[in-house]
Amino acid sequence: MNLFRPLSALLAAVTLAVSLPASAAERIPVVASFSILGDIVANVGGDRIAVTTLVGPDEDAHVFQPAPDDIKSVSRAKLVVVNGLGFEGWMERLAQSANYRGDIVVASAGIKARERVAEDEHEHADHDHERHHHGKDDPHAWQDPQNVIVYARNIAAALAKLDPAGADAYRKNGEAYAAKLQQLDSWAAAQFAQVPDAKRKVITSHDAFEYFGARYKVRFLAAQGVSTDSEPSAKEVATLIRQIRSEKIKALFFENMSNPKLLQQIARESGVTAGGKLYADALSKAGGPAPDYLSLMRYNIGQLLDKIRLN
Ligand code: ZN
Repeated sequence: MNLFRPLSALLAAVTLAVSLPASAAERIPVVASFSILGDIVANVGGDRIAVTTLVGPDEDAHVFQPAPDDIKSVSRAKLVVVNGLGFEGWMERLAQSANYRGDIVVASAGIKARERVAEDEHEHADHDHERHHHGKDDPHAWQDPQNVIVYARNIAAALAKLDPAGADAYRKNGEAYAAKLQQLDSWAAAQFAQVPDAKRKVITSHDAFEYFGARYKVRFLAAQGVSTDSEPSAKEVATLIRQIRSEKIKALFFENMSNPKLLQQIARESGVTAGGKLYADALSKAGGPAPDYLSLMRYNIGQLLDKIRLN
């Protein structure tokens, strides 16, 4: 008799979990490495999962240092999702510290990675190997919505493997989100097509917009390389300033998660009135203009269109 009671109770619990939306306590704990990815994961996972983001809004994943709370989040997670392409150089050690044994899903798997821009130019005589932990790829693939469609499908597949009962929901959520991304992409392409090629030039803090630039034919010139953890040489800064002057580029943008100091200096020395702010590697906080990926893209595109017309 005693043997059967727990079994029937278990079956009842399984049936409930399948037929009802999960309450907050039952949601599957999933960790995403940074805020933009956290939003994409939440869109695909819907109410079956609870997403914890390690690198928060307006924070810089390139120079992230995990805190004890982050180790706790990873140790409790059933799934960890990363961007990949060398973006989260700190994740392996963090997963070890957390004794995490689950899968680490690479959201960018299968996309066509761009090589990082002029890596050699950002190396200096005193460089150390820390600077190379990002690898050879440019990690900022999320700046092209077509890549984010791939992210969403990879995430849906990983969640379905972890939670087969939700496979259908994840696939549907993923496809609904992909449709929104497709709409965003078509709108953006149509907007940029109205601006002459010669005007599509932008100055930013670091090389976060190469995928965006390739997709919409906008040229981005940056003071720093693909990571924010290295400083450009005086010669590189001087070259950039000369280029801004000779090409009369007026569109200059700060980034929400980068230190503005270097760009302020460049703006001053090249006589450009510093422009607005682009959301590069992180969302804004909840009340800001970019609390989710779709808003982030619409905001950035609006800012860029306003400024490049002045070039
Ligand atoms: Zn970056």
